[in-house]
Amino acid sequence: MKLYSTENKALRVSFEEAVFHSLPADKGLYMPEKIPALDPAFIKNIQQYSLQEIAFQIAHTLIGDDIPAAALKAIIEEAINFEAPVKFLDAETAVLELFHGPSYAFKDFGARFMSRVMAHFSKKDDQLLDVLVATSGDTGGAVALGFLGVEGTRVTILYPKGKVSKVQEEQLTTNGQNIRALEVDGTFDDCQALVKTAFNDTSLHTQLRLTSANSINIARLIPQTFYYFWAYAQLKSQGVQDVVFTVPSGNFGNIGAGLLAFKMGLPVTHFVAGTNVNDTVPRFLKKGAYEPKPSVQTLANAMDVGNPSNWVRIQDLFDQDLEAIRSTVSSYTYTDAETTLAMEELYNNYKYVACPHTAIAYLAAKQYKKDHPGNYASVFLSTAHPCKFPDAIAAEVFEQVTLPEGATSLAGKAKLATPLAVDYDAFKAYLLANK
Ligand SMILES: *Cc1c(COP(=O)(O)O)cnc(C)c1O
Repeated sequence: MKLYSTENKALRVSFEEAVFHSLPADKGLYMPEKIPALDPAFIKNIQQYSLQEIAFQIAHTLIGDDIPAAALKAIIEEAINFEAPVKFLDAETAVLELFHGPSYAFKDFGARFMSRVMAHFSKKDDQLLDVLVATSGDTGGAVALGFLGVEGTRVTILYPKGKVSKVQEEQLTTNGQNIRALEVDGTFDDCQALVKTAFNDTSLHTQLRLTSANSINIARLIPQTFYYFWAYAQLKSQGVQDVVFTVPSGNFGNIGAGLLAFKMGLPVTHFVAGTNVNDTVPRFLKKGAYEPKPSVQTLANAMDVGNPSNWVRIQDLFDQDLEAIRSTVSSYTYTDAETTLAMEELYNNYKYVACPHTAIAYLAAKQYKKDHPGNYASVFLSTAHPCKFPDAIAAEVFEQVTLPEGATSLAGKAKLATPLAVDYDAFKAYLLANK
């Protein structure tokens, strides 16, 4: 597999280089030079395969010989070791649950696969790989639990003190082993700025082998294609012919992976993006002008993104052709009040407790069906378990949440976090004193 930069299509880098550098120096994003089609015979019989078998077929088709088949199989078996079931709420509406991994969010797919790909490429190297990551909540848990115990790696997570939920904090701070948490007396933006400064500090690079677990890493995007094919396989085995996927979107990585799957031959009719009031993409699809705005805080805070970093990938997939994007992707935007009502509606009508991100996808799926009636299964993606967002869910609905077993056991564990001021010198001193 070779990749180019969306800013320079003449560039060619190896998969390994794209994995360790996340971003090309020109600030574009890495994209596969060719999007290979999955074997049509495989798609025709896809309902016969397991999630892991489907994942291997996709990854092998994309990555080629950069990871030998046996090693790739082992990576997938270790990384994708949890379920992603499609559950019907009524005859034509279903939810694809992506929160059955260790951090209870879909980001587990990306983080777990990426960690093992990095470990695979690191074997020949002796120096420990230092992964730095700033989180507003969900990314940190997925990265921490994704890298936990992965040999040759160490993760340092910076999170804003008092600004993540209880379950999120427990996932960040109770691991020990190769995971360290820094509780920053500041905001998520402060955390991100500290990490960014570290990456730009050449004197640090001479002493540590630094890498980022950035959400735009190609090794996080690839495994997110797996569950679209897997959902399609489950639906096909139930006799469903046509599918529309609705994706709650912030940085547009998740739906971007769906569109990559589409380009590889996933036979679905359409994609719908649901956003909160951070509506840069819906405005773009309506008006044709891309006008990013500063992000606004909402109940669906993992989608509070004013300038979605993966959008350029989607434009690249469609050769910058706005009409082509419009014919495949629709989008709708919802306020917090609408999101809250949707969580209540999901509970009242279906006894289904959803997180706010999932509720936005539900609303967008419903709206699309109203605007485009038809005989297709409307499948919306549930990106996180509701237990991670207690403050965003009405108390009487949250009471109905059943905590996953793992979350109950985390609660008893000691918190391991080092306090840190918003001070780059202190951060650097910590990294160098604890090598
Ligand atoms: C990260 C996240 C999203 C947004 O996904 P993108 O790939 O950034 O569009 C949605 N829901 C939850 C729960 C998330 O953690």
